[in-house]
Amino acid sequence: MKRTGRRGRRTGTMVRIAHERIDDLFALAAREAAAGNPDLANRYVVLARRIGARYNVRLRPEYRELYCRECSIYWTEGRTVRTRFRSGRRVRTCLQCGRERRTPVRGRVSRPGPPDPRPVGGARREEANPLTVEPEETEPETEGEGE
Ligand SMILES: [Zn+2]
Repeated sequence: MKRTGRRGRRTGTMVRIAHERIDDLFALAAREAAAGNPDLANRYVVLARRIGARYNVRLRPEYRELYCRECSIYWTEGRTVRTRFRSGRRVRTCLQCGRERRTPVRGRVSRPGPPDPRPVGGARREEANPLTVEPEETEPETEGEGE
């Protein structure tokens, strides 16, 4: 098993458990969101982020695409987030707090080599995920807060 560089109170086991919990929580969030329980989904996101903060583990990049970093709402396309493409960038607008998140869209997605977990916080690259691309414009009927 690979060890991350930092030594401290937390053990490898704790980190592993934290990751497992986060996995579970995001799986639950996805399920509840699909089942029409956005409040529960949001709650799971909050819990997952809290675990990540407590154990100092990063949420995986694919998870970071699933919620708003500002208000922790779980993003459901057309309901809690709107995705647009503008000049080679994907712009996701949180429909809860209005925060925009722009990610560059690259032509090629496949990237040779393993992802390098660099601890620098500067230019963090984000990968375009073609699976979340919705070509058609979803116009949700005007609903305020989801029920
Ligand atoms: Zn938000």
